[in-house]
Amino acid sequence: RRAKRERTGVVEWTPGLDSDRRVDLRQLTELRAGLRSGHLRLHYQPLYDARSRRLHGVEALVRWQHPQRGLLLPGVFLPDAERSDVILDLTDWVLAEAVHQAAVWHRAGQDVPVSINLPAAYLAQDRAVPTILALVRMERLPAHLLTMEITETTVLANPDQVAEQLTALRATGMRVSIDDFGTGYTSLGLLPRLPIDELKIDQSFVLRMRDSPAHATIIDSVIAIARSLDLTVVAEGVEDEPTAAGLADVGVDLLQGYHLRRPRPPGDVLT
Ligand code: C2E
Ligand code: MG
Ligand code: MG
Ligand code: MG
Repeated sequence: RRAKRERTGVVEWTPGLDSDRRVDLRQLTELRAGLRSGHLRLHYQPLYDARSRRLHGVEALVRWQHPQRGLLLPGVFLPDAERSDVILDLTDWVLAEAVHQAAVWHRAGQDVPVSINLPAAYLAQDRAVPTILALVRMERLPAHLLTMEITETTVLANPDQVAEQLTALRATGMRVSIDDFGTGYTSLGLLPRLPIDELKIDQSFVLRMRDSPAHATIIDSVIAIARSLDLTVVAEGVEDEPTAAGLADVGVDLLQGYHLRRPRPPGDVLT
């Protein structure tokens, strides 16, 4: 297997950055070309109100329609992209596409809030906030129809700069969510000072809550914290009805998961 990977152009990445990971440079070059050739796609996975089960919004999730390998999930290509500058071009594309789609729905009379994953490297650019705001203006999209998802790691990388950027985005009505919450190292003391609207409990807790009391307890704690800070709580990775019902019972606001709906192309989302 190793010999085969080497033949396909896998090389060691800069030691020290992340020494036990290898970047597939051939695939990365292909991704850069695929991005220019229009081979990336966004699928959208609905978020539902936990009680009424009404559609609340959607999350934009990137896919790569590879000419030979078929539809590739982000796990195949995003980690490498995030270790290179390809993530910046990719995120520019994701933002433009998702904001455009939100505007298409809005103009059709269907206001569907769209959540977008925003990586740390993108926010590290001074142009990040101006670029997002320019897109929203260009598409004439009401900003409250967008939620930016960032991770705890993104916040901790540069708390002051990120807080300033999030404040600027929220000043327009945009919402901010902490994705994969519980997997990072956010100090609970930092949380009240963060300019955010939503906590998204990581799916690792949701997937295990039914057979692990410890995971269920963590979910209860996140809900209690969110309540006290007046934040919306989302659970991702809801794979069965008992989990969905249980999460609604303990007070989760929004549910996302295969049990409710899988990510689909934009044309299939609202049907
Ligand atoms: P995420 O933001 O936490 O997105 C949720 C992931 O969980 C998605 O995987 C979704 O398909 C999957 N999922 C949803 N419901 C279930 C479920 O019930 N069970 C299980 N096991 N999984 C479920 P996906 O699309 O493969 O994306 C993986 C990760 O890649 C995302 O995690 C996000 O961190 C990243 N990603 C996806 N799209 C983008 C993007 O456009 N830009 C950036 N920067 N990252 C993205
Ligand atoms: Mg996300
Ligand atoms: Mg998530
Ligand atoms: Mg996740």
